[in-house]
Amino acid sequence: MDHGEGVYLYDADGHQYIDCASGTFNLSLGYSHPEVVKALRDQVERLVHVTSTFQTGPVNELVARLVEVTPENLTKVHLKVSGGSTANEGAVKMAQLATGRRDVVTLFRSHHGQTMMTTTMSGESFRKAPFPHLMPGVLHVPDPYCLRCFYRQTPDSCGLLCVERLHDFLDHASSGSVACVVVEPVSGSGGNIVPPDGYLAALRALCDERGIALIFDEIQTGIGRVGRMFAAEHYGVRPDILTTGKGLGGSGAQVAAIVADERMSGLDADHHSFTYGGNTLAAAAAVATLDVIARPGFLENVRDVGAYVLTRLRELAAAHPHIVDVRGLGLMIGIEIGDADGRPHSERAQALAKRGMEHGLILRTSRYGRGNVIKIRPPLVLTRAEADLLCDRLDALFTADAA
Ligand code: PLP
Repeated sequence: MDHGEGVYLYDADGHQYIDCASGTFNLSLGYSHPEVVKALRDQVERLVHVTSTFQTGPVNELVARLVEVTPENLTKVHLKVSGGSTANEGAVKMAQLATGRRDVVTLFRSHHGQTMMTTTMSGESFRKAPFPHLMPGVLHVPDPYCLRCFYRQTPDSCGLLCVERLHDFLDHASSGSVACVVVEPVSGSGGNIVPPDGYLAALRALCDERGIALIFDEIQTGIGRVGRMFAAEHYGVRPDILTTGKGLGGSGAQVAAIVADERMSGLDADHHSFTYGGNTLAAAAAVATLDVIARPGFLENVRDVGAYVLTRLRELAAAHPHIVDVRGLGLMIGIEIGDADGRPHSERAQALAKRGMEHGLILRTSRYGRGNVIKIRPPLVLTRAEADLLCDRLDALFTADAA
């Protein structure tokens, strides 16, 4: 690859691609957004890095802005993390310190990072198979995956069994020392699973009842991806701790944060701080990113264009029988590929993603290329015209595949 601009990436031969994966789902403002580039340029000349013992303008500004844009109860910001994985680990440590308990509950298809702890926390056996020593203390429970419900229910009549049954897991299958439940409000790697109405609120109520901290991993869903600054806002549910990363860097700056309720314990430098955490340069990019995303009309556009893409993809699904489901929120959309009987067809999803490049599309599939869901998560600056081009190219890809 050679260069990028907005939603487009160009290779060294001049071929143009729409990046439906926004880099690594982190380019919320697309390639080389001019305001992020300017913030980086200005900051490079002033101060690239200083030990996080000191305060700086960009870091202080970012802390204030994060408190402003996250749910009202979240007022404590920890920036000394090097990315999403270490943000999630820090969130767990905060919950452990606050509750005096140890263990973590996560979902089957979750992805929370690739450090040893977050590899353990993430669902999916394939991630763990090669490693002899994972961390103790994680309990995995079924996801709110209505299309293939673990409990063989349907959302209209299930009574949210996937939350209800957590009491059984906690009472009979956990260590009895559960500090927190960690969830991605919409699953990123796991297949763009959008929970049914009321799921996160019910989870909140269960955590309250049992004195367990609720952590939202918004590394993918945050910073406008679902059409609101955070999915917590969309669902009207306040977590005790929220982690953010990826899109916070706008056009690729390395920045992440933990934002927590005052009741959660802070983290001292000797408990959770990383050399490149709270980096001045990255903080400047993050502030510029939040400026753009919080601007009037920006998130409305994400919601409008996202709804438009969903509609067009549902039309595509009607014409292509191997698309068994299209689901999403904002510009976090998944196309689920199945066989003639509707069973997951991962090989076909991989083949389609690979052929995407012939049609000017960069596509990634769920579960690190093992899953059957094609992820449509372009930069949030996508215009209606670019959305049409994206959907036209997908149509051409599915039509060629059917031929
Ligand atoms: N959480 C979620 C939901 C993610 O999608 C990812 C990365 O893909 C992470 C955490 C880990 O973030 P990082 O790769 O920055 O450590």
